[in-house]
Amino acid sequence: MKKTLLPLLLAALILAHGTASGWGFFGHRTITQIAVYELPSAMQGFYYRNMPEIVRLCTAPDERRNDDPSEGPKHFIDMDHYSEDDPFGKVPRKYDEAVAKFTADTLKKYGTVPWVIMEMKDNLTEAFRQRDTVGIIKYSAELSHYVGDAFVPLHTTVNYDGQLTDQKGLHSLWESQLPEKFITEYKLDGESAKYIKDPLNEIWTTLGKSYGFLGETFDRAAKIDKTMKPEVRFTFSHKYGKTTRRYSDKYAEEYNKAVGGMVDYRLKGAPTLVSSLWLSAWQDAGKPDLNALMHPGKPSKEEKEKLSTELSAWKKGTLVQDQLLLAQQKVKKVEEVDQIKSAKDMEVTPVEDPEPTPATAPTTPAEPATDKLKVKTKGKDGSEKVKQKGN
Ligand SMILES: [Zn+2]
Repeated sequence: MKKTLLPLLLAALILAHGTASGWGFFGHRTITQIAVYELPSAMQGFYYRNMPEIVRLCTAPDERRNDDPSEGPKHFIDMDHYSEDDPFGKVPRKYDEAVAKFTADTLKKYGTVPWVIMEMKDNLTEAFRQRDTVGIIKYSAELSHYVGDAFVPLHTTVNYDGQLTDQKGLHSLWESQLPEKFITEYKLDGESAKYIKDPLNEIWTTLGKSYGFLGETFDRAAKIDKTMKPEVRFTFSHKYGKTTRRYSDKYAEEYNKAVGGMVDYRLKGAPTLVSSLWLSAWQDAGKPDLNALMHPGKPSKEEKEKLSTELSAWKKGTLVQDQLLLAQQKVKKVEEVDQIKSAKDMEVTPVEDPEPTPATAPTTPAEPATDKLKVKTKGKDGSEKVKQKGN
């Protein structure tokens, strides 16, 4: 990308869909990289070889939102639009049933992320079946993106930026400013990938938990607002004839003290579901030999050593200070995805195939009480305000 275009493009992105981008590029890239570390060895060599590319492509869904009007709603689902008391009881889990109840247009308006994740998982399974290297890389990256979005509480509400409760800017504060500023404090240790029998159920469980954190997300900010003067709360920047307001570093510090544990918890939960869905797609496709898809050949000694250094840094929690996080590095110019050679015709090397254990519901230390939720999404007059969606 030309240097001069980048600021304009970023500005356009920000203007086009408010701040609802989902984790920011930093978070998405971190999630994708860690997902690679959580894979079983039969998959890890292939994924590690292609990690720079998968990490780079995992932000593509956000990058194309501007050009593709149908992209925006794929990144969220506004559960409280359907009901503030029992949204998860009201929205059918299966797409066809949800369409029958609410119409496809309504679903499109209020977001389709759970079904988009399912679609990506099916695409990935098919790519594995076809031994389609380019497809495997692409859909692994995209699956990671949308799963990452589902872990962000503000992706489950009509009040996605705090705009209905006089807390505008909360979205990028939560998902970009905090992780970028406090990543060294966050523990990125996740669980190993596990086969998921019922992905749709797992995705809805994830969304339920995200939704469960909304109360805290808003209330903790409101608490800071009460004690911090407005002139300390925000910083302003002027660009392209527009003034942008964002939360100050001071505010971010206070907010991190209040919700940093939650941000960390969602940030490290996402890779486990990402890697588990990659694994499930691979297993559903009959566990194709991924070493045979690698070009040129299976992992080298250097690659294995580098991976084991990274794995131990990840386990020790020193990825960030060891400068091993790709999200911290400048994006290097890498091969275009369509130029990566598929190794379909290369000779097949047998690979050991450890049996992945079946999935159990992940245990969660900080289960939010969904029944006690208070999510403010109505305006003062009691009517739901219309928000700017996508383009
Ligand atoms: Zn997104």
